[in-house]
Amino acid sequence: MAIFEYRCDEDGEFEVMRPIGTAPATVPCPVCSRESTRVFSMPMLRSTSQRGWNAAIDRAQKSRFEPEVVSSLPPGRAANRTVRMTPALRSLPRP
Ligand SMILES: [Zn+2]
Repeated sequence: MAIFEYRCDEDGEFEVMRPIGTAPATVPCPVCSRESTRVFSMPMLRSTSQRGWNAAIDRAQKSRFEPEVVSSLPPGRAANRTVRMTPALRSLPRP
């Protein structure tokens, strides 16, 4: 089962649960019975809090213009971790 979203021009958006692949292009509005068209949204974003979503967007924008440069491993356990050298890693530049 999957949740599909529809929008009634009068009453706004509502959700309908149906088996995957069986969602029609229009369904009757549960309030006024007017035919409502299906709308598409990005999946799983509703479960993310708006604050967390805004922070993720801010980090993505910042990394686009001001990428953080890492020149050493972080202190602690990660510094003692052995990195197995694969042929793909050998071709990377070294500091
Ligand atoms: Zn309606």
